[in-house]
Amino acid sequence: MLNRQGVLLVVSGPSGVGKGTVIRELLAAHPEVSRSVSCTTRAPRPGEADGDDYHFISVEEFGRLRSESGFLEWASVHGDLLYGTPREPVLRALARGEDIILEIDYQGARSVRTELGGRAVLVFIAPPSWEALHSRLVGRETEAEADVRRRLNTALAEIAHLDLFEYVVVNDDLACAMGQLEAILLGERNRLGRLDWRGLQAGLLQEAEADRL
Ligand code: ADP
Ligand code: 5GP
Repeated sequence: MLNRQGVLLVVSGPSGVGKGTVIRELLAAHPEVSRSVSCTTRAPRPGEADGDDYHFISVEEFGRLRSESGFLEWASVHGDLLYGTPREPVLRALARGEDIILEIDYQGARSVRTELGGRAVLVFIAPPSWEALHSRLVGRETEAEADVRRRLNTALAEIAHLDLFEYVVVNDDLACAMGQLEAILLGERNRLGRLDWRGLQAGLLQEAEADRL
């Protein structure tokens, strides 16, 4: 068995594009992959569970964790809301050779790239059209009108930073988008830099040497 480091899949894109939906499908097909649970200062939406969707914490608690370097990355999104990725669970998963997915904004994606370099794989999920994005955001019925407007404003900033990313997946047909994200994950597992290729090479050369005798 070829030992490897875990893949850190960083998934970004405008609010309402379907990141959560595509990731849910990927996790259902790959139970060996985990998803990082972020901390946020925003209030839970109906149906969201603390510790499952997010760790819902106060601004004070967020500040304390930030000052203790508890976040791998953090950012202020949609104006004044704070979001951050707890550092330890991510580093622990990667060290064990397990894959982990972060669903974070473009500022967070940039910080993760700075902190972890090529270990992170940056994927942007794009809508097939602006109209589709708008109607998905409204159709989700989780935000008031003002919050929808705030999220559409943030969407403009997300789209303006598309060049930060290595892959783009257009979420038009859900199954197709999930298949593309899965293909990225599977391909990245085989990247030379993530594998103990020296062990593989040495083993094969040793066997070849023995075969010659
Ligand atoms: P995000 O996590 O990016 O904010 P969600 O996963 O909550 O977005 O999806 C927003 C809405 O769009 C949801 O109502 C979801 O069911 C819907 N949706 C997701 N993907 C598609 C798709 N490919 N086609 C149509 N609707 C979609
Ligand atoms: P929502 O409030 O709709 O759940 O998420 C709003 C935005 O915050 C999304 O674009 C999401 O990707 C981003 N986000 C969620 N968690 C994090 C995080 O831990 N760090 C950063 N930088 N962004 C996050």
